Amino acid sequence: MSMDVLGVVKIGGASGNRLEPLLEELALRVRRGERWVLVHGASGMMERLCAERGIEVRYVISPSGYRSRFVGPLEREVFEEAALAVSRSIAERMEAFSVPCEVLTPAAGERKDCLRSLEGGRMRLLRGNYSGRVTAVRADLIMEAMERGSLPLLPPLAVCEGLLINVDGDRLAAAAASALGASVLVMLTNTPGLLLDPSDPSSLIRRVDLDRWDLAEKAAQGNMKRKVLAAQEALMGGVQRVVIGDGRLQSPLEWAVEGGGTEFCSTRSAPCMEAAASR
Ligand code: ADP
Repeated sequence: MSMDVLGVVKIGGASGNRLEPLLEELALRVRRGERWVLVHGASGMMERLCAERGIEVRYVISPSGYRSRFVGPLEREVFEEAALAVSRSIAERMEAFSVPCEVLTPAAGERKDCLRSLEGGRMRLLRGNYSGRVTAVRADLIMEAMERGSLPLLPPLAVCEGLLINVDGDRLAAAAASALGASVLVMLTNTPGLLLDPSDPSSLIRRVDLDRWDLAEKAAQGNMKRKVLAAQEALMGGVQRVVIGDGRLQSPLEWAVEGGGTEFCSTRSAPCMEAAASR
């Protein structure tokens, strides 16, 4: 990849994802003049803090099948703390590679106060929720940090009503990549990519075109649904390449940008066609 790379990479908190190899790769790439933004999850840290403090984590399954955490006022505070703690620990580790980081919350968000939850075939309404979705991202703040030579770190938070609310990291990464006009968005997770059969690691889908999206939507279960949605949002937002890659590898970013994992293409995008043809 050339010097004019502007990429966004997201690493999840699911078990198996390895942070250290990604940070090493990012340090090398940033020193080489590539511009990257790192978005991270915080679910592992959130679960840890909740367990330490005896806070029960409540999950809800929406009627469309998305699983999410219910975030009341207390959970919101703990989530903010967890997310910023993850950012800080990444920043410390990057300092060891001589790459300064800036923790940014450049997204504005919208709360979803009331969550619909499907419980035993019945619908329940849960109010007072402090998670939501990203409505806009200040690309200028991210650009300025990169111009100062820093690696911008984005925890899964957005500003709403003067507070930081919990947003999905994959969709934040997609919104940031769109706002920045990024050349590539990489979402790293604990599978080889999007699998045709989630229980069969050898069933990797190598490529998904925007006009055959039904295939991807059918394959994705659980949390993977959100990544597929994020991929679609990024492509619609003008990002040229979107890859879901394997975050358990020794060089996860290299593997993803060089054709590993699942590549999502808006059918008319030329770079994607070239990448596919060269495989
Ligand atoms: P992360 O924390 O890395 O973002 P998630 O737990 O949110 O990870 O999402 C990854 C999980 O999605 C996988 O561990 C897998 O269990 C699940 N999954 C569901 N459907 C698929 C699929 N079709 N292909 C791959 N993984 C899938």
